[in-house]
Amino acid sequence: MALTPRPGIMNIAPYVGGESNLPGQNRVIKLASNESPLGPSPRAMEAYKALASELHRYPDGGAVKLREALAHHHALDAARIVCGAGSDELIGLLVRAYAGPGDEVLYSRHGFLMYPIAAQSVGATPVTAPERELTADIDALLARVTPRTRILFLANPNNPTGSCLPAAEVKRLRDRLAPDVLLVLDAAYAEYVTRPDYEAGAALVERHDNVVMLRTFSKIYGLAALRIGWAYCPPAVADVLNRVRGPFNTAMAAQAAAVAALEDRGHTEKARAHNDRWLPWFSKQVRGLGLVPHPSFGNFVLVEFPAATGGAEKALAFLNGRGVIPRRMAGYGLPDCLRFTIGTAEEMELTVAALREFTGHDREAGRGGTR
Ligand SMILES: *Cc1c(COP(=O)(O)O)cnc(C)c1O
Repeated sequence: MALTPRPGIMNIAPYVGGESNLPGQNRVIKLASNESPLGPSPRAMEAYKALASELHRYPDGGAVKLREALAHHHALDAARIVCGAGSDELIGLLVRAYAGPGDEVLYSRHGFLMYPIAAQSVGATPVTAPERELTADIDALLARVTPRTRILFLANPNNPTGSCLPAAEVKRLRDRLAPDVLLVLDAAYAEYVTRPDYEAGAALVERHDNVVMLRTFSKIYGLAALRIGWAYCPPAVADVLNRVRGPFNTAMAAQAAAVAALEDRGHTEKARAHNDRWLPWFSKQVRGLGLVPHPSFGNFVLVEFPAATGGAEKALAFLNGRGVIPRRMAGYGLPDCLRFTIGTAEEMELTVAALREFTGHDREAGRGGTR
């Protein structure tokens, strides 16, 4: 008998991360993974370096200092916080703990790809609900809840579309959901959201026993390499996660750097202000080139390339030739789109210049100049 993995495993389309290199290019503009263009806080770097001589020690398995720092920073209860090796690990642990063969894991059509990957890895069935204008549709999601639905994942804001639901809509979803379905609010981009009617999810977690909020240090805090995220949970869910997680699932350096990053409010503010300035600028520029930027509440913009421009695949090849690496979106069912992370000022200017060339607007401008 041949060695056989559990049902569902071989149906997984492996997650393809953003490219970091282009053959033959020594300088690239990497806008493919929603990393912070400002990098980590200098204080986080110091905290990381300071642990070099302690690498033989096991980390604090309970991540006590980090959980206390998070509780203080966000005015939350430390006992309900569980840390993970990125929110990716927590997505996997929640699915492993609450879903299995025959169960359904629900998410919206262009939701984050880790949800179906995690579902399939435990033999559960990923189920999608259609969106409206690339935005999660609460009623469509609710219509797809069945007696087999165990978890509903909602990324808010969503990656890769950038769309975001107001607190009232999320509350409506929670209130109509069966109490035995876990609602996971993935708020990886919460720190970037400026709309006043947004709530990342902590308030709902505190009021209900079937809501979890996921957060990460990979995005605005610029610590993607360290793999550190956290979940805010009802006490019973925190208890479950603490049973299924590895006893030392987050590294000592990750915990320490995360604490320092939280304390450096000035650095986080700078990253937010940078995004507030360059995201609207980039969206406006690409719209001026005949491309279609989707409104975004994150640190990235999903851009549609109408057929008349040559399409997204051609644009990707062209941009790569100029050293620019956006993210291909075919895996998300958005083959006409590319996703661009907001990079440094210079990176955004160079990217718009490359897009101007791709769309032929540089030639028009040239003609205008000689007339
Ligand atoms: C980036 C991202 C995450 C995961 O980040 P980690 O690096 O694993 O913490 C989770 N959810 C969404 C929607 C993301 O975009």
